Amino acid sequence: MATSGALVEVAVPVPVRGGFHYRVPERLVARARIGARVLVPFGKRKLTGVVVRAAAVAPDGVAPVELAEVLDDEPALPPELVELCLWVADYYEAGAGEVVRAALPAGSGTAARRVFALTEAGRAAAAGEGAALPPKQRGLLARLVQAAVPASGASDATRRQLEALRASGLVEEVEERETRVKLKRERVAELADGIDLAAARAHHAKAPRRLAVLEALAGGAVPVPLLAERMVRASDTLRELTKAGHVRVFEREAALAGTATGTQLPALRRPPELTREQAAAVAAITGAMAAGELAPFLLHGVTGSGKTEVYLRVIAEALAAGKTALVLVPEISLTPQLASRFRVRFGDEVAILHSGMSEQQRLAEWSRLRRGEARIAVGARSAVFAPLERLGVIVVDEEHDGSFKQDEGVRYHARDVALVRAQRTGAICVLGSATPSLESYAHAERGAYRLLVLTERPTAQPMPAVDVVDLRTHMPDGDAMLSAPLRKAIGETLAAGDQIILFLNRRGFATFVLCRACGHSFGCPNCAVSLTYHRHSDRLTCHYCSHSARVPDKCPECGGADTIVRKGLGTEKVADAVAAEFPQARVARLDRDTGGGGKVEGLLARVARREVDILVGTQMVTKGHDFPGVTLVGVLCADTGLSIPDFRASERTFQLLAQVAGRAGRGDRPGRVIVQTYRPGAHAVTCAAAHDYASFFRAESAARAELGYPPHGRLVAVRVDGADGSEVAATAQRFAQLADTVARRPELAGTIDVRGPVAAPLERLRGRTRWQIWLRGADRHALRKVARAVLGAEAASGVRVVLDVDPISAL
Ligand code: ADP
Ligand code: ZN
Repeated sequence: MATSGALVEVAVPVPVRGGFHYRVPERLVARARIGARVLVPFGKRKLTGVVVRAAAVAPDGVAPVELAEVLDDEPALPPELVELCLWVADYYEAGAGEVVRAALPAGSGTAARRVFALTEAGRAAAAGEGAALPPKQRGLLARLVQAAVPASGASDATRRQLEALRASGLVEEVEERETRVKLKRERVAELADGIDLAAARAHHAKAPRRLAVLEALAGGAVPVPLLAERMVRASDTLRELTKAGHVRVFEREAALAGTATGTQLPALRRPPELTREQAAAVAAITGAMAAGELAPFLLHGVTGSGKTEVYLRVIAEALAAGKTALVLVPEISLTPQLASRFRVRFGDEVAILHSGMSEQQRLAEWSRLRRGEARIAVGARSAVFAPLERLGVIVVDEEHDGSFKQDEGVRYHARDVALVRAQRTGAICVLGSATPSLESYAHAERGAYRLLVLTERPTAQPMPAVDVVDLRTHMPDGDAMLSAPLRKAIGETLAAGDQIILFLNRRGFATFVLCRACGHSFGCPNCAVSLTYHRHSDRLTCHYCSHSARVPDKCPECGGADTIVRKGLGTEKVADAVAAEFPQARVARLDRDTGGGGKVEGLLARVARREVDILVGTQMVTKGHDFPGVTLVGVLCADTGLSIPDFRASERTFQLLAQVAGRAGRGDRPGRVIVQTYRPGAHAVTCAAAHDYASFFRAESAARAELGYPPHGRLVAVRVDGADGSEVAATAQRFAQLADTVARRPELAGTIDVRGPVAAPLERLRGRTRWQIWLRGADRHALRKVARAVLGAEAASGVRVVLDVDPISAL
């Protein structure tokens, strides 16, 4: 649809709410459609924005300037996606341009700038021909041979010289467009020119792998990486075929031009027969898809129950109906297996989007989706904006995972955006998890989502047995936290030639305080969260309400003297201790220090090849890994997660315990889990040990109801930060008072609870002091009124105030 009139609203990537108005010159009217990228003057710069609306009139007092250029012939974003971006901007109180930027692939922005460049005459002069020049100007010419000089960056002195050169016709001022992305090259295999396929088949009749490749190439060229993903020893097979002169391997620019769409690779692995429960789930979802019944599904399947197979079947149905599919997964780099399962089943129909890829890879994949060459997008958080049209199904795998929430910039939750996108486009949304978030399960209980369950593993292995080791009686030695029962189990597992995962929950804080005799830990009397230990003051503080207390000498619960301990933990300590105790074992660590650039994938591959006996790690070991050789999982201290000052601490701990336990016994031998804890009675621990989600949900939901925490109420966090600590504190005070005043207005009275301001648990982060204010209430519109009033106030300069709608972290 062409925008009527000559005025458009453009989302520009600056952190300001609302769009900006521009006039469209006659020559560009036909192309300045909704979703098209445009180059617009913005102050002294030119920025890339996206047309989001046709505008009838400009706001009062605004005289719109002309936009400079339309960058797309076909709009980059389909209109539906533009609408989604505007919804996200509105709901999360963010700038539309910032959201649009998140929706576009990195590298798609085109910046333009004014530069000084050499003219023909200038190039000749630089080469030493023509008139003699003053040394400064000669120097400048030499520099301009290397690269143009940006007009804005030049110093006054340089500028004067440049003007002089321009006056003599050696230099001109021009607009330079930068496109940052070049496409990557890839290796591709195809049948050699003019080969006789029948003869080639006969020649390789006894080599099934070579035959399979010949068949695959008969339909057109196929990228080598894709072949390698689908069959074992692909490169050897290709080498043999090339030697025989039947196949040619060459390099070309990746994707964009002529990918091997439509090439049907032979199914090298047949899909398994569905279990009864899987079949029922697939039937329910595809039935709803056919009937256009849009209520979301919650697929609650225990770890290893085959949820992925359900997604695959549903997606196949969507494609068969001429629709597309979007699959969101937490962190692809941690679960490379999952993405490859989609590629194995659907080949080139799958485009993968994640932050570990280079800009050009991501842009290439994004373009394939936009052109309809790939109809399935698999990606992490930002893939929720994948440019798919005719969406049939959106899958959010591990929907409880915290990585779906963006914690800076536009603070959107990809799961929630996925639900909205599905609703708006008529797609079915399937949320899958072994440990659903409390919010999602509460929706299912109310009947807003349809619940599907997978209670068994298709491999017929039972869920692993979980033993809880009470650290108050089985005292671990030193800092390594290895109790006698865990040591014994490690020894037995190693002797049987199996693998072990040791999990250390280190989110949040290095140090925590508890009573080692009775396990007592310190909670806030007002807020039902743990108090945080501050080493410098040796005090315990609440980060919701600022309640503060001294660390007592005696335990308030059991009266024990000298039993209060301050404990610190680390993967390195644990790995060293294990290596010392089991010198024959190959020990490896997986945590944030493992590093990027494929190091994590490399390590996981070594574990899969069984080159590692004991893997010690943080949360990263709990993700969806499928290592059949792992038969023992040890949780070193379940309490660290429980002591995080966050009302979600218990839920997260339960999820981590259940997920890590799910890594054991996925092969043909039964698994076993040992959970060490000072608080064996905590419901997160007892329910995880019993694989009992329903009981956990009931206990936790009841605990939250009392205080109106989600899912019983909603939260908005006002986050205040800046370099100057006292300015930040003063601003936070002022804003909290303002919020309180608004909340007391008669029409809102009593519905919104304002807490704080308080220093954040991680009070100093990257040189900035951080404070927060909590707004809590049942009604989203009332909450938004208070939040917007706060945001409308002026903050001290150098202090930043942002809203976090539906925050998931208190840190
Ligand atoms: P989840 O995602 O629920 O944790 P997965 O989808 O990873 O579980 O499935 C666990 C394992 O079971 C995988 O190795 C998968 O290939 C296998 N599997 C799934 N469905 C079936 C089935 N119907 N028959 C046999 N094996 C299956
Ligand atoms: Zn408190």
